[in-house]
Amino acid sequence: MCHAFVSNASFYQFLFHVDQEVANEVQQEGCIHCGGTLHVASYPRKPRGMRCARDGTYETRLSFCCANEGCRRRCTPPSVRFLGRKVYLGSLVILVMAMEHGLSTKRRKQLIDTLDLYPQTLSRWRQWWRKIFPLSRCWQTHKGHFIPPVDTRQLPGALLGRLHGKNLVHRVCLLLRLLMPITTSSWSGSLTVVIDPQKM
Ligand SMILES: [Zn+2]
Repeated sequence: MCHAFVSNASFYQFLFHVDQEVANEVQQEGCIHCGGTLHVASYPRKPRGMRCARDGTYETRLSFCCANEGCRRRCTPPSVRFLGRKVYLGSLVILVMAMEHGLSTKRRKQLIDTLDLYPQTLSRWRQWWRKIFPLSRCWQTHKGHFIPPVDTRQLPGALLGRLHGKNLVHRVCLLLRLLMPITTSSWSGSLTVVIDPQKM
């Protein structure tokens, strides 16, 4: 399993551009509550992991606020970078856990050392993938598309292996795309954005 892209700046720039495209789409649709105009109201984030490979765009979560006086509700678009409130980037939460059942034990250990991950963090992530994610509406919607069913005890590796990407980076991007609905609680809807890592 080759994960060289994980320390590649262009990977993180690419994900930022996807988030920007998604945000543009959400903004054009307007407020999901009242249809009002959405004004930019991004907020600071301090994500962990691979700081050397990403730029200042990762210090901000793109977000909007409804301009309508009587509404003013926040609307945070889904993201392929931030996995909800998790402090580590979504791509890392996928990759480190997916490698758990792989053969690349040494590489996984290197990645864990590089990211300075505590065993408690890993056990929280495992818990999330095996106990919380399988119950999410997102997974309930998608799981039926996989025949035979994905073994949830082997998430996310089992799911990653079932996505039709040309290579690992493509499959990680497809999984980030699939996870998008769970990355925000203030926006729901369908998106047309397509992730094409060839633009990376
Ligand atoms: Zn509104």
